[in-house]
Parts: sequence; C-alpha cells; structure tokens
Amino acid sequence: MPRLLDRVALVTGASRGIGEAVALRLAEEGANVAVNYTSDRSRPLAEKVKEQIEAMGRKAIIVQADVGSKAQVEAMFQQIREQLGDVEILVNNAGIAPFEPFLKVTEETWDRTYNTNVKSIFLCSQLAAKSMIEKRYGKIVNVLSTASLVVTSPVIPHYQSSKAAANMLTKGMAIELGKYNINVNAVGPSTVDTDMCTDFLADPAIRAQEIEANPMKRLGTARQIGDAVVFLASEEAMQVNGHLLMVDGGLTVKAAQPDDHMEH
Ligand code: NAP
Repeated sequence: MPRLLDRVALVTGASRGIGEAVALRLAEEGANVAVNYTSDRSRPLAEKVKEQIEAMGRKAIIVQADVGSKAQVEAMFQQIREQLGDVEILVNNAGIAPFEPFLKVTEETWDRTYNTNVKSIFLCSQLAAKSMIEKRYGKIVNVLSTASLVVTSPVIPHYQSSKAAANMLTKGMAIELGKYNINVNAVGPSTVDTDMCTDFLADPAIRAQEIEANPMKRLGTARQIGDAVVFLASEEAMQVNGHLLMVDGGLTVKAAQPDDHMEH
C-alpha cells in the first residue's frame, strides 16, 4: 500500500535537482503533486517531471511562482486548490546558493538568498497551515543543509546563515503547529551533484576532496533526500516534530581532522 495515497503535495523548486527527485518519490508513494518552478527556461523541465508523475498514474500540475513573492505564492496556492485540492504535504525545497565571499556579497544577493531560502518557507508554510489546521492534518518538510549546522565553504556565508535561520524557523513552526496534528521537520543534505554544485564539482580535485571528506566516502544523491522526505511525510514519522534529519553521511558529526588522525 503506498504510504501517501491521494495526498496533495507541493514541492517548491521541483523542476530539477533535489526537488525533482522529491516530487517523484512522493508520487511513487501515491501523492498527487504540484511541481513548482520559477524561471521560464525551466518550464520544459517542470513539464517533464509532471509527465513522469502522470506515467505513475498520479495527478500532477506545474505551477510557476517565485516563492519569495507573497503575491505569487498566493496565486500558486489558489491554482493548486482549484486543480488538485488543499496542500497536505508541503516540501519547501527551493533554494539558491550564489557563491560569493562575504566581502563581495551585495545587498541584492543577500535579499535574493534570504527571500528564496527563508521568506519562502514563511510564506508557503503560513498559507499551507491554514487548510492543514482545518483538516487537523499536515506535513511540512524543509530542505535545509549541512550549512544549517556547520560552515561548509568560505564563500557562502549568506547561504549558511539563511539555512541556519530556516532551521530555527522549522523548530518554531513545529512547536506552534504540532497541536493541530501538523508535523514540521527538515532534511539536511550534504553535497549532491545537482546544477547548484555543477561548477565546483567540475573540478576533479574538489570533487575528490568532497568525497574524501565525507565519512561514507561518497556524495549523496537526490533520491536519498527524497527517501528521507517521504519518511518525514509519512505516518511512520507521526511523532517526529521539529527535527532536522541529516542525510549527510555523518559529515556534520565528524571533527575537522584527517581520518588517519581519528583512527589513532
Ligand atoms: P538546483 O538544482 O539549483 O535547483 C533549484 C530549484 O529551485 C529549481 O527547481 C529552481 O527553479 C528552484 N528555485 C530557485 N529559486 C526559486 C524561487 N525564487 N522560486 C521558486 N523556485 C525557485 O538546486 P538543488 O541542488 O536541487 O537544491 C535544492 C535544495 O537543496 C536547496 O534548498 C538547496 O539549498 C538544498 N541543498 C542542496 C545541496 C546540494 O549539494 N545540491 C546540499 C544541501 C542543500 P528553476 O528551475 O525555475 O530555476
């Protein structure tokens, strides 16, 4: 029996990368899925995700919206309500990581990063919570990062702080919404080979370093993040609330020491 049969899910930033994999995993578990994207050039990608979901016998729609814009988020929820029903599973996945060192970060980059990575969670979750409260059922899963907990790169302090803020937002929402039978949790991926990381993983030395640094000696995959989201969206996780489930191979629990040093 699929675990999420006929549930209505919204995955933000589902045209590619981790969001695409999450949307497909939710559909595999029986959910009908709204596939959000923002750029015109990604429309064909979003269409492809929709087609794959429909091929599984599930319903899917694509919804274009900048999740950092209140007006666009409101229009997106209206479209989903009319075409699929109220959102019961919300996956706040959309995110950006503009690589700029602290001294070069502009106000525009700062605002865009926070709008996409933090404000979007506030806007989408507040709207979703309204109907979830009425139904006394809801699952909100935020896609965070190792950067929510530790400094992973010297060139994305704005990204790291946004992901740390989103971690506390997750916990605050979990405390307030739990009494309505709404679970709010998060997943924390380490490096996954998506468009977000294409540039730096293209350098073979950096790719090798990323793999070597991870206790599991491999990169994570988008599907693994989808598996974790499915768990948190399922009734198997009904008593899990306010939790950040790291899917990082143990990276964030490892001290910054070479492996041979740790073995002695
Ligand atoms: P990605 O491949 O760059 O895809 C980003 C997705 O977000 C795209 O679907 C994009 O839509 C969408 N998006 C960006 N800005 C948006 C906005 N304002 N409104 C709506 N959608 C927007 O990224 P990814 O690697 O899959 O990352 C997904 C999430 O995982 C992010 O929150 C990221 O921080 C997190 N994460 C990623 C990694 C990693 O190594 N990849 C590690 C840790 C955490 P368009 O296609 O329309 O541009």
